[in-house]
Amino acid sequence: MERMVEIERFEEESSYEVSLRPSGWDEYIGQEKIKKNLKVFIEASKKREEALDHILFFGPPGLGKTTIANIIANQMNTNIKTTAAPMIEKAGDLAALLTNIEEGDILFIDEIHRMSPAIEEILYPAMEDFRLDIIIGSGPAAQTVKIDLPRFTLIGATTRAGMLSNPLRERFGMHFRMQFYTPEELAKIVMQASHKLNKVSLPDAAAEMATRSRGTPRIALRLLKRVRDFAEVLDEQEISLERAQYALDQLGVNNLGFDEQDIQLLELLVSAKNKPMGLSTIGAALSEDEGTIEDVLEPYLIANGYIERTARGRIATQKSYEHFKLAGAKDGLFND
Ligand code: ADP
Repeated sequence: MERMVEIERFEEESSYEVSLRPSGWDEYIGQEKIKKNLKVFIEASKKREEALDHILFFGPPGLGKTTIANIIANQMNTNIKTTAAPMIEKAGDLAALLTNIEEGDILFIDEIHRMSPAIEEILYPAMEDFRLDIIIGSGPAAQTVKIDLPRFTLIGATTRAGMLSNPLRERFGMHFRMQFYTPEELAKIVMQASHKLNKVSLPDAAAEMATRSRGTPRIALRLLKRVRDFAEVLDEQEISLERAQYALDQLGVNNLGFDEQDIQLLELLVSAKNKPMGLSTIGAALSEDEGTIEDVLEPYLIANGYIERTARGRIATQKSYEHFKLAGAKDGLFND
């Protein structure tokens, strides 16, 4: 079965989804602390007529990092150029990006933890002194060419704060950790998006989709699109709770937002009976890449108290044992 709560980008890049992307603060639901701080910094830098300091966003995929970077550009009335670290392979790629920006512009680099060390070296003076040092030629004839850059703002996004080198992290003036969204916030996002799609989600239907979205707007929007398909096929104008429940059940998403992989991971840890399990063992058991387990699967389960990361490995919490109560009782897990 297709993994419904999976994080995918491709679908979203279509113009259809882009229209769902909030363009201003009013439509950007939640992340209140981040919004409050950013509004102050944006106003201050506008007053000083200076580029905004470099900003780093970290948090699991789909929580709105790219969206907020675009809103910042909107608020600053500047252009934004978007790229991802793996696309910057050579010094020349970065130089081409940086020499093409204008005063005050924003350069958004996604997955910035995947930047190669050689490119990072070039980025440091660009971030700090707005200067590019490029070496042309090699051996004794090599020459360093210095190019002055306009003052720009780098916005970096990463799912792995821990994988960022210290010197790079320190060069960002502002660091923001994105939070998972509450069901209430996600319900608002779903209602807002339905409205844009010219379809009404009844409040209880929106709430149902919200509680099944792993705290993640991207997932909420994907579920909405699929639920809407069910409603459309049945010629229903409104999305009712019944339709939402039926569609979501068909799609195999349970009411805690767990999908099959979450359940597999939890079952695996519960079956380990309090013995910590290493990432490589989990990866092998789930046939899943370790990075995906760390970036996508675990954060939601950890934030909601279902698993814990310890020095010796991952362990299921009491909450997980309670969730799998029946299976647990049968296996005698509670007698341990
Ligand atoms: P990230 O860059 O963190 O992976 P995105 O910015 O691409 O996440 O967000 C994923 C989708 O969720 C976007 O299509 C956007 O429309 C929606 N979204 C994200 N955050 C919010 C929010 N706070 N309010 C409304 N919609 C949001």
